[in-house]
Amino acid sequence: MRPSREEVEELLRKGKRIDGRGLLDPRPISMEVGVVERAEGSAIVSMGKTRVLCVVRGPMECVPSHLADPERAILDVAYRMATFSTEERKSPSPSRREIELSKVIREALEPAIFLEEYPRMMIRVYCLVLQADGGTRTASINAASLALAYAGIQMQDLVASVAVGYYDGKILVDLNAAEDDLCADIPMAMMPAHNKITLLQADHIFPVDRIDEIIKVGVMTMRRIYELQRDALKKKYVEVAKSVG
Ligand code: ADP
Repeated sequence: MRPSREEVEELLRKGKRIDGRGLLDPRPISMEVGVVERAEGSAIVSMGKTRVLCVVRGPMECVPSHLADPERAILDVAYRMATFSTEERKSPSPSRREIELSKVIREALEPAIFLEEYPRMMIRVYCLVLQADGGTRTASINAASLALAYAGIQMQDLVASVAVGYYDGKILVDLNAAEDDLCADIPMAMMPAHNKITLLQADHIFPVDRIDEIIKVGVMTMRRIYELQRDALKKKYVEVAKSVG
């Protein structure tokens, strides 16, 4: 059962969270790569109850061919929520939100990929939300960057992502859906090794003079997520090395 708005509000005013976390604690995060054998790359990422499967196909011939760019690969991202991912059945037809989030996720990933290494080709990224509880775009970006790396796509860095929230003077990290309904939501993504932000969005109202602090808290969390991404890749590489050697 989802907590009521009033319950979440009352706790947040006291600086507490519905799931008992500290304001600056992300939800428990788990990551696994190479979960779909048929695909070149895949990863599954959980951030609390939010769970996203990402599959990468390619680089492959660009279809339709008139979209092919002689200078670089086309990155095609499809973000979808499974019909069973929400409490009430989600309609299977792609919503405006899903189309918009596909673009947002693509733009957060593109700076990290050496697309010019794959002229006339297409790289397909499918993000399927298995369970939605806030932060599905950030979990998708974390999963997609892992799946791209595992597919052997040339990248200058991984992309790590988290949403930072603001409510009643307080900054909080990695919002769940109940908090997302209430707080200002600032999803962001970065290339941690290059110290560059690739996504910064803001939804709702928060004071301008807190933006530096909000970004700082986000960056600190994304660096932690980056370590988990690296660990997940290393774990799989060790497994693969053992199985062939
Ligand atoms: P994000 O998941 O990146 O935070 P939104 O802010 O658009 O993206 O959505 C917040 C949360 O609202 C989602 O994670 C999900 O839990 C919930 N949500 C979004 N769309 C739907 C939907 N069609 N049906 C039920 N819940 C939804």
